[in-house]
Amino acid sequence: MSEFANIDENELRARTRALVDELHPEKTDSQTFRALQYEHGLALVHFPEGFGGLGLSPKMNYVVRDEILKHSKVYYDHPPASIIGIGMGMPVVNTYATDEQKRRWLPKIFSGEEIWCQMFSEPSAGSDVAGLTSRAVRDGDEWVVNGQKVWTTVAHLSKWGMLVTRTNPDVPKHDGLSYFVIDMESPGVEVRPLYQITGEAEFNEVFFNDLRVPHENMLGKEGQGWRVAITTLMNERVAIGGAGSKKKGGGGISKLIDLWKERDASEGSAAQNAMLRDRVTQAWIEQELLRRTVERAAAAAKAGNPGPEGSVAKLFQAESAKRMWELAIDVLGTKGLSFEEGYELRQVAGMAEGSEAYAKYQFLRSRANSIEGGTSEIMKNILGERVLGLPGEPRVDKDVPWKDVPRS
Ligand SMILES: Cc1cc2nc3c(=O)[nH]c(=O)nc-3n(C[C@H](O)[C@H](O)[C@H](O)COP(=O)(O)OP(=O)(O)OC[C@H]3O[C@@H](n4cnc5c(N)ncnc54)[C@H](O)[C@@H]3O)c2cc1C
Repeated sequence: MSEFANIDENELRARTRALVDELHPEKTDSQTFRALQYEHGLALVHFPEGFGGLGLSPKMNYVVRDEILKHSKVYYDHPPASIIGIGMGMPVVNTYATDEQKRRWLPKIFSGEEIWCQMFSEPSAGSDVAGLTSRAVRDGDEWVVNGQKVWTTVAHLSKWGMLVTRTNPDVPKHDGLSYFVIDMESPGVEVRPLYQITGEAEFNEVFFNDLRVPHENMLGKEGQGWRVAITTLMNERVAIGGAGSKKKGGGGISKLIDLWKERDASEGSAAQNAMLRDRVTQAWIEQELLRRTVERAAAAAKAGNPGPEGSVAKLFQAESAKRMWELAIDVLGTKGLSFEEGYELRQVAGMAEGSEAYAKYQFLRSRANSIEGGTSEIMKNILGERVLGLPGEPRVDKDVPWKDVPRS
């Protein structure tokens, strides 16, 4: 028997049409439409019935989008500031929360009414996030949290935050972590912006000063936070790797091709122009490879959370995006050296917004691609060890109680 519910594509299209008939996207706003889309089970169709889905295969999600676009010029995609909530918060809540918590959190994440952030990284724990030092100590029905997080994307906009923190320092690092959902508006949470090389503050430092969190907000059991964190991270890598254009030749590569067509060819020699053309062709091939890899992975996706193979697209997306935007600067020639417009320090209302100086902005922003969501070196470790089965790198602190591990 199939692991999925018995609804075929025609039936799914009919249900999507019923949604559009009830409330046409052109006659309403994103939040209202997406709230109703959730109620109809058409938010993420692979989620269970009653929780925004219909228990279908993840590859059926495209049908909803396709059918809405057939009947409406407007399509309300995931709001940019909700990428973390939808890409990571929803699967984690769906996997570990109680039904009551799911009913409370899931609809508002999907509609965009409530923004979520992910608080894993700390000043001395990024790649080695399991070595983190923030602490939660139990006090009756509550936990009291102290410590600091860093690089927390959209924390300044968030209502809820996914927090991994240490609840037991006497056991090895992976065994002493617990996972909480915290109310970012609680007393004891302080958010300070951090400005990136682009001038935008997408992310923040977050400080916890005697923050009190109800025990019921723990996802998974006490000491099992690493498992929940891994679920979050696997979903994050798939979300980042798959975030590019769904259309052949669309997204960033179309901008590069435009720049190539508009460039002043007289600036370079014939040999330089020929070399640039080869690199532009190579970039187009890479972006198409990425698009097809993501498409193939979506078609093969099974129910449940993704595994370590999601790091393939994440690694390739990061490295090919950096190459593509470096090339864009080369195509611009001497004009690529200035940053004359659109550069200002500002706290953005979502994820990176960009500026009019698009290629120059993307050149700077793409430096983050091989850091955010885990660095390219860490992706290679994961693929080598967990997908290809190569020997693991030495991990000397793995079996030592966290409190006994020397640290500066
Ligand atoms: C734009 C952006 C947004 C982010 N958003 C969030 C967020 O919302 N929430 C959050 O929790 N974090 C976020 N991060 C943080 C991100 O996850 C970390 O920066 C990342 O995991 C790397 O950690 P680190 O900065 O501490 O670097 P380190 O871990 O100190 O790494 C430094 C260098 O050493 C290399 N290295 C480390 N360990 C190994 C190893 N074992 N083998 C080989 N090389 C290694 C790394 O690849 C890197 O080049 C964000 C980062 C960026 C850039």
